[in-house]
Amino acid sequence: MNVTETKALLLYTAEKMVDSEPMLTELDLKIGDGDHGLGMQRGFAAVRDLLKGETYQPKDVGELFLTAGTKMMSSMGGASGAIFGTLFRAGGKAIAGQDTFNAAVLSQFLVAGSAGVFARGGAKPGDKTMMDALVAAEKQSLLVQNESLENALLSITKAAEEGAESTRNQVAVFGRAKSLGERSLGYVDPGAVSMSLILKYMAEFVTH
Ligand code: ADP
Ligand code: MG
Repeated sequence: MNVTETKALLLYTAEKMVDSEPMLTELDLKIGDGDHGLGMQRGFAAVRDLLKGETYQPKDVGELFLTAGTKMMSSMGGASGAIFGTLFRAGGKAIAGQDTFNAAVLSQFLVAGSAGVFARGGAKPGDKTMMDALVAAEKQSLLVQNESLENALLSITKAAEEGAESTRNQVAVFGRAKSLGERSLGYVDPGAVSMSLILKYMAEFVTH
């Protein structure tokens, strides 16, 4: 898809993430301080407001994601502002100059975004964070780089959802949930669910 279509994809994703606030709040109340849903809502509302209308015309796909990441970082606050802002900024930088969003470009975005988040926060898969969904997505994206964006997003979303679900059996070692120790067992990590939702809404946009 071209830059204008990718802008529409990100606008749809942002609107859906704003609507996901109650679900994410409920998840963070189980193992965190309950602010994850509001943080994501604030960040994606800022992205939505940027992308609505004709005022902002990104020059390429990389700039679009980079600018969205900057918006998230300045509006969200909390751990997830830095984490999801870094994902979009690092991923966006890696695809600078691309005028098409396809499965290969999406994979480059996820690989670089994941490296950026790791450099920033040091969490690895198994630590019960959004990295469990992101690294699963990144790995799957490498296997489907030559497929259509539709097929790639569907299979990457499935991998991310499985990664998010795997956090249910993990003990948190990062963020607010760390203080719960063993009591974080049995609950999925809200940031991992957010990560899988972002991909799910992108998949929804391209398949409808
Ligand atoms: P806070 O912990 O400041 O309340 P949020 O509730 O907004 O932040 O976000 C919590 C989410 O941030 C967690 O569910 C987890 O997925 C993610 N997170 C926390 N620390 C890290 C980290 N070091 N690396 C990656 N993700 C992290
Ligand atoms: Mg929180």
